[in-house]
Amino acid sequence: MTNSTVNLEGPVCPIPLRHDEKIVMGHGSGGRMSHELIGRLFQTPFANPALAAGDDAGVVAVATDRLAVSTDSHVVWPLVFPGGDIGRLAVCGTVNDLAMMGATPRYLTAGFILEEGLDVALLAEVVLSMQAAAAEAGVQIVAGDTKVVQRGKADGLYINTAGVGELPPGRAIGGARAQAGDVVILSGPIGDHGIAVLGARGELGFEADVVSDVAPLNGLVAALLAAGGEAVHVLRDPTRGGVATTLNEIARQSGVAVVLDERAIPVRPPVVAACEMLGFDPLYVANEGKLLAFVAAEAAPAVLAAMRATRYGEEAVVVGRVQAAPAGRVLLRTAIGSTRVVDMLAGEMLPRIC
Ligand code: MG
Repeated sequence: MTNSTVNLEGPVCPIPLRHDEKIVMGHGSGGRMSHELIGRLFQTPFANPALAAGDDAGVVAVATDRLAVSTDSHVVWPLVFPGGDIGRLAVCGTVNDLAMMGATPRYLTAGFILEEGLDVALLAEVVLSMQAAAAEAGVQIVAGDTKVVQRGKADGLYINTAGVGELPPGRAIGGARAQAGDVVILSGPIGDHGIAVLGARGELGFEADVVSDVAPLNGLVAALLAAGGEAVHVLRDPTRGGVATTLNEIARQSGVAVVLDERAIPVRPPVVAACEMLGFDPLYVANEGKLLAFVAAEAAPAVLAAMRATRYGEEAVVVGRVQAAPAGRVLLRTAIGSTRVVDMLAGEMLPRIC
């Protein structure tokens, strides 16, 4: 093969983007401009047989008779932030929601709402980021849609992703399955995502050296399930509302109390500093690459070791225990030895972080 080889089958490289190219209403027409945009930006990165068929729906095969199904819309601002962007977030968010059921994520769909005037080069960057995240997670994006709205009617780009994952026979993981005696494991330090996005907006008023944790957690889940099996009762990713809100949901669903040890909860120093400046409690700040696992006590050491052997679980720690009462409550044993109730997040603390 030489550089002078001419491929007579047609162009193999995407048509180059012009620097000043913007999304215009015609890109949402469903006609020639839509097809060109989809062909240039989406079809090559997302290439898979289901998408390439070009039909009204992607046809896929699954190896189980039970599927987990999830959907999530992403409106994060800004579109790109330290450690990630709206595309990586959109893929990881849905992959993680499927993984938290103990399902193996397989196929995603992606719907794009584009605002007239959006930089085509930025959209191309986001699409490549989605494909990188999908490849990392081992999932395929098998169907998609783009719509364009007039300037001022959206904020650049919104992405909805839906996904399906295969549930193995007998797998029963859910928020109602926590039991008294369970150990609560957290996969790593909290608050990175929320603080990284605030920093990217310039809302911190200072430079914080914080990078979003946005990551696909299905590999971590596979490792911990291989180690813990049926001893793993609950998995959930503490996204919006943070660890405090997620634990309250589980305590209520299961009718148990969760007792957290404040000293055991890992928070990176720059996140602590940012939270102190802003008056936030890191327990309520969003994460996009962390999970909480409720595991029967006897299996906890093996599960913890398996988590720590994975890329996204290296800093996993035991942060609490489950007890029977007071049912539906989360309690925090503080560093000074007192105990206080940790409630759900009341309103919206940080809008548009996911
Ligand atoms: Mg979730």
